[in-house]
Amino acid sequence: MAFVELKNLNKYYPISGSEDFQALKDVNLSLDKGELVSIVGESGSGKSTLMNLLGGLDSQFTGEITIDGQNMSTFKEKDFVNYHKEKIGFVFQSFNLVSHLSVLDNVTLAMTLSNVDKKTRVARAREVLKQLGLDDQYKKKPSQLSGGQKQRVAIARALVNDPDIIIADEPTGALDSQTTDQVLDIIQDIAKTGKLVIMVTHSEKVAARSTRVVTIDDGKIIGDIRQGEIALHDNAFELQQKSKSKNLTFFAAIRLALLNMKEKLARNILIALGGSIGIMSIIVMLSLGEGVNDYLTETMNANVNPLVSEVRMPIVMETNNSENTDSSMMIMTPAGAEIPAGSAPSGPPAGVTQSDPFGEENLEELRNIPHVAEVNQAYTSLTIGSDNVIFEENKYSFMTFGTTSGMTDSNILYGAFPEEGEILITEGIANQMGATAEAAIGKEVTLDVTIDGDSLEKNYIISGIYTAGQAIGAFESVYMSADSFETLTAENNMEVKPNVVYLVSDDPDNTQAIKDEVAALGYRGSSADALASTFTQMLDIFTYILSGVAGISLFVSAIMILTVLYISVVERTQEIGVIKAIGGRKKDIRRIFVSESFLIGLFSGILGVGIAYLITVVGNIVVENLFDTAILNMTPAFAVFGIVTSVIISMVAGLMPAQKAARLDPVEALRHD
Ligand code: ADP
Ligand code: MG
Repeated sequence: MAFVELKNLNKYYPISGSEDFQALKDVNLSLDKGELVSIVGESGSGKSTLMNLLGGLDSQFTGEITIDGQNMSTFKEKDFVNYHKEKIGFVFQSFNLVSHLSVLDNVTLAMTLSNVDKKTRVARAREVLKQLGLDDQYKKKPSQLSGGQKQRVAIARALVNDPDIIIADEPTGALDSQTTDQVLDIIQDIAKTGKLVIMVTHSEKVAARSTRVVTIDDGKIIGDIRQGEIALHDNAFELQQKSKSKNLTFFAAIRLALLNMKEKLARNILIALGGSIGIMSIIVMLSLGEGVNDYLTETMNANVNPLVSEVRMPIVMETNNSENTDSSMMIMTPAGAEIPAGSAPSGPPAGVTQSDPFGEENLEELRNIPHVAEVNQAYTSLTIGSDNVIFEENKYSFMTFGTTSGMTDSNILYGAFPEEGEILITEGIANQMGATAEAAIGKEVTLDVTIDGDSLEKNYIISGIYTAGQAIGAFESVYMSADSFETLTAENNMEVKPNVVYLVSDDPDNTQAIKDEVAALGYRGSSADALASTFTQMLDIFTYILSGVAGISLFVSAIMILTVLYISVVERTQEIGVIKAIGGRKKDIRRIFVSESFLIGLFSGILGVGIAYLITVVGNIVVENLFDTAILNMTPAFAVFGIVTSVIISMVAGLMPAQKAARLDPVEALRHD
């Protein structure tokens, strides 16, 4: 039995609808090792069709193909892969070298697919290249070679795995007569080593140098002439020890992907840039959330006594203690006091209102909240233009007046808590008075405050400087002790009910429960709490917008990567065909493309993280200049998250193109006419 046996081989190409075109008609042929067979025939006679079937690139046929006793009809994908890796070497008319790989990489590609170690790979490839006179060319790219050199590289690639059969479809079709002779010499030498060389040709001259000429016409063999034997080498038929077929490793796939990406550097940089926008938005968004959260927590902790909960009466929309009777609508100010709508912001007579006072029953209700150890009554008001500190005949206005109940030491910037007859002022007032904060302490001033519509005046000594810390919405303020306030109102025959109450908890851990209960009873919490929650809400909205932007740009970049990889598949069709012809599995091809999308994702992610980092640095510098605090906090976890997200999105986007590449029909992929 011959090495290759074709029996009643028929090939039908499906064309439109139910019609088939018969390209091979009952072909019977036996071929043996050591033969150099020329297949001749007119264009369209079925030569390539026959080669594709023999080479296992096309498995759709009727009849029988037997190679070395194995029936091809029984081949599974794995068998075809091994067949390509071990038994068959292809040489094509158009060389089909992979343009972005060096000569050496082109020749070693088949071994890379089999995971042969690098040393063996390079040694074997250089040995073959040397035999073909290309030893000094192995670093070049295919585009730097002449036609004859390219075909010799292609022959080296076909020989490197030491196959039994070499199939050459018009190997000299693209060469001039001198290089044709060179290539034919090489092909003859190959046959001398005991391989079966099957060569498709148009040329009489080429056919004349073979041992056998098979003529094919309209899908039928019409001639089979033997014209002499070839002088076989002594060690003919001896084959190299074949490495056990393994698979393309992940690192080899990454390297192949990198080599391809390097070739299209500008394009890949642009893609990475496009892909980085979404990742950058996500990281900036997360950093902003983190930074603002840190800021709020820090501010709260620095200025709030963890035992104390501030309570105010519920907001009443209809008010009757306002002087301004026609304006019943109230506006919330940042500090939580109400200013009647329509009151002029600065011109006297100023509209002045306070939170509604607590009644005895309210205080009782608050006292009964579990874990409340103490109920401190306090007074506070927010006014515009009617409260002043008078110093050396000059008036300095302030907005917040209140008692010191609920304050902590952190609220005292300089000096001490005020005793009877003393007050705290803010640094701004001290500066307006022409003094530094520290120099203002001990000075005597006249305080002019409006309480329940009455303007009260009394002299006080400044005991210290008040600070709201970093609290937002801190106005110029004056504070005195609750006792001093009681003295002041009593001297003016007034009885002022508290409009703020500070509940002291028995344990810091119970404070939140008290706050929750206060809210459940319908009271309001501290204005700072309210402000923080407003702020958080605004931040949430901002975060939603940013997430939207990030989501859309991630989606767009996924589509972009998808498109680019599809284009890449089209561009690399021939390369994919070659990989399949030399024994690349679907899996290997998928792996090369998935590696490429992995790399695009990785680069986009790294770029996105880099840009986001720059934005947080620059953003923080700007914000620090404006507000004295940094609000972008990019943690390493965000960077990792960004890169991982980018890689995942990119790989998901790359799945479809990779699948398309893996499914590509090698016959289609390698067709060039
Ligand atoms: P050759 O290589 O001898 O020039 P081919 O083997 O390429 O010829 O083609 C043989 C015949 O089969 C031609 O008539 C060609 O048009 C037809 N053919 C080849 N491939 C296909 C295909 N994929 N679908 C339909 N017809 C095809
Ligand atoms: Mg052809």
